[in-house]
Amino acid sequence: MSSTPNEKISALHEAQKKLFATSKTRPLMWRKQQLAKVVKFIDECSTQISDALTKDLGKTAFEGEVTEIEVTKLEALEAIENLDSWSATEYVSAPGALMPSFCEMRKEPRGVTLVIGPFNYPFSTGFGPAVSALAAGNTCIIKPSEMCPATDKMLRDLIPKYFDPEVLAVVSGAIPETTKLMELEWDMIFFTGSERVGKIIAGAAAKTLSPVILELGGKSPLIITKEMPELEAMANRIMWGKTINAGQTCVAPDYVLVQEENVEAVLEAFKTSLENMFGKTNEQIKNSTFSRNVSVDHTKRLISMIDDAKSNGGKIVTGGSEYGDAKAKYFPPTIIYNPGPKSKILTEEIFGCILPIIPYKTNGDAIRYINTMRGTPLALYVFTRIREHFDFFMDAVPSGGAVHNDVLLHFACSTIPFGGLGTSGYGSGHGKHGFDSFTHTRGVLSKPCKGIFEFGGIRYPPYDRYGGFSGPLFKFLVAKLPNIPVMYSTALYYSACTLGCVGTMYLALNYAGVEPREDAKASVNGLTKFIGELIVDLGKWIGGEGLARAMARQAAQTCRAA
Ligand code: NAD
Repeated sequence: MSSTPNEKISALHEAQKKLFATSKTRPLMWRKQQLAKVVKFIDECSTQISDALTKDLGKTAFEGEVTEIEVTKLEALEAIENLDSWSATEYVSAPGALMPSFCEMRKEPRGVTLVIGPFNYPFSTGFGPAVSALAAGNTCIIKPSEMCPATDKMLRDLIPKYFDPEVLAVVSGAIPETTKLMELEWDMIFFTGSERVGKIIAGAAAKTLSPVILELGGKSPLIITKEMPELEAMANRIMWGKTINAGQTCVAPDYVLVQEENVEAVLEAFKTSLENMFGKTNEQIKNSTFSRNVSVDHTKRLISMIDDAKSNGGKIVTGGSEYGDAKAKYFPPTIIYNPGPKSKILTEEIFGCILPIIPYKTNGDAIRYINTMRGTPLALYVFTRIREHFDFFMDAVPSGGAVHNDVLLHFACSTIPFGGLGTSGYGSGHGKHGFDSFTHTRGVLSKPCKGIFEFGGIRYPPYDRYGGFSGPLFKFLVAKLPNIPVMYSTALYYSACTLGCVGTMYLALNYAGVEPREDAKASVNGLTKFIGELIVDLGKWIGGEGLARAMARQAAQTCRAA
């Protein structure tokens, strides 16, 4: 794999900074064009992407399509469809003591961003966050994992055909190149990878005060309670979630706690499910629907984990290291029953196709077991027919995300945030949540600068202007006045205008944060003021506050264009 030289890394960063400074990336039209390019790239190059994933991880075309290619395209399409609403300024209420004032939350791009990807989903973990970055009006550099040279090369060859390098570029390399990248200043770094490297990235980012989102891994527990749901469906779901991508999935169930009365049935169902999906253990190596490990070393690590678990009392239920082939990067789906708590498979993230099964008596015991494990899980899975039991585990076991009666699917649901907690990371991605991560929400307050709104100069020194009265009055106003919804602020302002201020136009311009021009001021007359008030009142009367607010916003926008 050829790495990107240091000078080129600096030049790309500089070029992206320059482009961002021109404000060219801000307009929604520009952003939608970039997102459309993502869709075009995926449509035209899906075969090359799929082939690269097969070369790197033995992924079938179907698995590559479903778990990497299509989800990334959907991210882009969803962003195109929702960009107007995601990026719309929100108008919010203002504290009564600051009246009259108008508060907005503007959604602004952050700037030049960096996405560092892991090996296990090398396309979607790089391109998915890049979609969010572009949607939010940023430029982006993707650094894919060096463990997936085919995907890295495919991205390096194809991305320049669709994107200008000052908009989206790929930097290839391993630790030295990532270290070089981390010396630069970024407006957002989105890192997906291990906890160990996450700490290195966060430490390096602190030196340049670059903000970071960390999507890390860890041990995600799965609990099957006494009141388990339908056995076969449950077993298939769990075996699918564990075996997809040969277990190299950050949210794969890492270990399973089964209420002891169900152990026998569950083990049998797991075994049957695996055989239905991949055949008998000794035939599974020939089954091309089962992905391969990323490297020989990774496979050897799994083999040694199993040997260690066996020496710690674990009993193989199905699979086992004797069926593994390190050279072929193959390790069979393996279930091991009740290994001792010191086994490596219970102290380290497994990140491969081994599933330890641990029996427990009461739900309280299961919680105590999970809470003896180091770190905060990225995902929590509970299979139970009783909703209260699910809630019981939710309250007792913190985690990044959770699923009731299934596995992994929350990852595919872009309406909820996906991210970790504690050792499994911080910040979130996917859909609007990814957009928000790459967006700076800028709080803006606008206030008319008029003597009438000084309220006797109560806020200015000398503070004893009103004797001992100023302090208590000030405290009273701050504590007692409620937040004023934006629509009442507008109405109040309109009313104030009738008392001799410049009128509706001036209001709308102020409200929109625009300094009124002299000619705009001149065009204000009593009629517009009257109509403005009427519109807001009418809006409130017909459609409530929401409609009145929308009308006030419209008035502000109209005046902005005037
Ligand atoms: P990793 O942390 O080893 O590598 C991730 C990236 O960091 C790579 O691009 C790599 O080049 C770079 N890197 C590695 N060592 C570095 C160093 N010393 N300094 C600077 N950069 C360095 O992770 P991995 O092995 O590729 O991926 C597996 C991990 O990722 C697992 O822990 C898994 O749970 C996690 N993961 C998390 C998510 C999520 O969404 N939370 C998704 C996928 C994977």
